[in-house]
Amino acid sequence: MHHPGPISHDLWNRALLRIPGGVNSPVRAFRGVGGEPFFVNGAKGCTITDVDGREYIDFVGTWGPAILGHAPQVVIDAVTETAKHGTSFGIPNPLEVEMAETICRMVPSVEKVRMTNSGTEAVMSAIRLARGATGRDRIVKFEGCYHGHVDSLLVKAGSGALTLGQPDSAGIPASLASLTSTVPFNDIEALKHVFQEKGSEIACVILEPVPANAGLYLPEPGYLEAIRNLCNEHGALLIFDEVMTGFRLAPGGAQEIYGITPDLTTMGKVIGGGLPVGAFGGRADIMDQLAPLGPVYQAGTLSGNPLALAAGLAQLKEMERINGWALLESIGAQMEESMNTAIKGKPLTFQRIGSMFCLYFCGGPVRNLEDAKKSDTIAFARYFHAALHEGIYFAPSQYEAGFLSTAHSSEALERTSRIISEILTQF
Ligand SMILES: *Cc1c(COP(=O)(O)O)cnc(C)c1O
Repeated sequence: MHHPGPISHDLWNRALLRIPGGVNSPVRAFRGVGGEPFFVNGAKGCTITDVDGREYIDFVGTWGPAILGHAPQVVIDAVTETAKHGTSFGIPNPLEVEMAETICRMVPSVEKVRMTNSGTEAVMSAIRLARGATGRDRIVKFEGCYHGHVDSLLVKAGSGALTLGQPDSAGIPASLASLTSTVPFNDIEALKHVFQEKGSEIACVILEPVPANAGLYLPEPGYLEAIRNLCNEHGALLIFDEVMTGFRLAPGGAQEIYGITPDLTTMGKVIGGGLPVGAFGGRADIMDQLAPLGPVYQAGTLSGNPLALAAGLAQLKEMERINGWALLESIGAQMEESMNTAIKGKPLTFQRIGSMFCLYFCGGPVRNLEDAKKSDTIAFARYFHAALHEGIYFAPSQYEAGFLSTAHSSEALERTSRIISEILTQF
């Protein structure tokens, strides 16, 4: 097991005394791999530096937002310049209009959009809106899909909950959880069955169109279309949670790649440029059900915060300027080629789309949560620590996706490839 340096270790002991589990978000605690996390005081491009001066090539990218790598100059400049004029107004500011127009242009299914401060908030609000707009209470989600720590969605939720062996959270009233139906991903018959039984109660179906919170697996051909059709037949709204995939897989997210039009979309991560941001949007007639126009209440003191929007807009503009998505595809292809060479003949599976990937410690293909759970998490932990020891930081859980950025240079990937190949000879 890799051990952090002395300064990190000291901070960790202090953190444990005053922060539950030492962290402000559970997966950071390394419970999925054992050992203790390192503390970071800086990151640039594809590398992060810990408080003991050790450098790592980073494949977490602050869990998705850092699509241009860490601390891109355009984002730092935008935040610095904007901050000189104030950090929050609580009155409409021009960046809100620019962000709304930018999102609607990049994601055509979004006709109107509202900003929030996190992906969780965006999802929570979208669910409330779907219920308010349809007058129905039931929601349908998929096993292994994570939608933030929204009460009614912390049911078979993947990610942190899965890492900790807690598919469901305490503190959620059974009466609320009973309004959530869950089905396995890539199994249209299971969804049909729920619609047959409860179709008239279902307000919405929510999913990650490319589930990336139980590792990473892809929708099979025709699957998303079939979900769209079932929603149409039964008058349920379709919500794509693109907090992770939005603005990452393509300018218009997974819905652009798969050609599906959801009714509502939730967003976050990349649009915040590393500051706290979420958004939800979609059909204008549904969005107009929100207060002050309609009866569904939703609000936020810091929503549309100028610093956060300046950071997000700067990041999106830069991605468009350099056509970052094409670049990410070639970076992803390089990673995939070297990983596939390294795992050849081994019971391991590498899955990738664009700049997101996962190495499962089991045979493939992995197509849903049940498959993902076959992965040997003890082997994963051994691999994780071996990589960390050599200065390569992957997410500290088998059930997280890896992220590439436009700052992952060929040299960084070649170095990673050499190290990983060497480590994997022992698997
Ligand atoms: C990260 C994530 C969320 C939650 O976003 P937060 O900003 O962490 O609240 C929701 N949905 C998906 C798909 C995510 O990956």
